[in-house]
Amino acid sequence: MNILLNNRIVPRESFSLDLEDRGFQFGDGIYEVIRIYDGILFEWEAHLERLVRSAKELMIPLPIPVNTLYQNLQLLVRDSEITDGSVYLQITRGSAPRFHAFPEKTDPTLVAYVREMQRPLEKMKKGIKVITAEDIRWLRVDIKSLNLLGNVLARQKAVEKGAGEAILIRDGMVTEGSSSNVFAIKGNHCFTHPANHLILNGITRQVVLRLLKDTDLTLKETPITLGELLEMDEVFITNTGQEVCPVIQIDEFKIGKGTPGIYTRQLQFAFELLIGSVIPS
Ligand code: PLP
Repeated sequence: MNILLNNRIVPRESFSLDLEDRGFQFGDGIYEVIRIYDGILFEWEAHLERLVRSAKELMIPLPIPVNTLYQNLQLLVRDSEITDGSVYLQITRGSAPRFHAFPEKTDPTLVAYVREMQRPLEKMKKGIKVITAEDIRWLRVDIKSLNLLGNVLARQKAVEKGAGEAILIRDGMVTEGSSSNVFAIKGNHCFTHPANHLILNGITRQVVLRLLKDTDLTLKETPITLGELLEMDEVFITNTGQEVCPVIQIDEFKIGKGTPGIYTRQLQFAFELLIGSVIPS
């Protein structure tokens, strides 16, 4: 496998992690996961825009201009010969003797690589069961940082209970999933948490907000309680890997009839059309 290392495509073996890389010691870095459909980097502008924002919020200088990065990512995808997969891209503040505050001078390290990925069609068709977990993360989860332990622990709890995701609850309110955004529908109202410091503004979330405009659903970007979530007609989660994935059970409670709802299906269909439209035939 070849990887992108700063501005060069090199064999994976030629990359070694420095002992004092701040990503390794402090989680001092940012990342993105970009979906590749038929060789095309889906929603790449939005992903790179979010990357630039994360970098700015953490004051990590980008090692290369964003246009060059996009060209390099295209080269990396072509080089991988993977047509359906994802790119993992990470930038850390770089390496320096261990001290919490920023070092005076660092060279940020950028690495990216491509992996194959299948669309989880079975889950998307049948829906998934999820659990709820306390949202114990820090208060800047709008930044896509490498600090993911709150997410990791929640997802582990889900796995141990045989569930597909953990929906996080902070002060009684639903924020998001351990690696997804949460949408809930009651009547013709579609609720999702506003994009503030308490959630990551998912790229798939942003796509779904656009798709909602072509439905008769009214968007309510407002937090809901766990009690309200359990009373919803439909619930679904969104992320780069799972697209629009129906939730049919939360803890021991069935959502609606315990099958994927009609609006969720409509949004899945619209999402598929969008993917189809970005793939040149
Ligand atoms: N929220 C969290 C905490 C995530 O980790 C992710 C993605 O991994 C998302 C939301 C969804 O983001 P996206 O749609 O950009 O994949």
